[in-house]
Amino acid sequence: MKSKDLEKWINELIEKDELAKFYMSKEFRHLKKAILEENHWECEICKKEHGKITKATTVHHVQFVRNHPALALSRYYTYNGKQYKNLIAVCSSCHNKLHPEKRKGFNQSKKEKFNNEEKW
Ligand SMILES: [Zn+2]
Ligand SMILES: [Zn+2]
Repeated sequence: MKSKDLEKWINELIEKDELAKFYMSKEFRHLKKAILEENHWECEICKKEHGKITKATTVHHVQFVRNHPALALSRYYTYNGKQYKNLIAVCSSCHNKLHPEKRKGFNQSKKEKFNNEEKW
């Protein structure tokens, strides 16, 4: 998919409040799996910041999809001439921290699911 088409599609999904369709798309699921496998299903943040090995369960967009739809399927983005990772493998706990907006009540059922999964 061309980035222009991707941007258009995602903007349409955002408008209709159907962004979940993007996360369920074949393109994104393939990319997500590839990234998790490359990181051996380990959370990149736990590893880098705490030297801990935690199982990664999802992939986070450093440049939020809502703000940067054209980057939704990009592994990297460029800022000030430097290349950075756009997609990182994370555990659910780190992922929740990266999305403070999810803590404000909406998406509650999803959040509860995350919390339950963490009682290990
Ligand atoms: Zn983590
Ligand atoms: Zn995320």
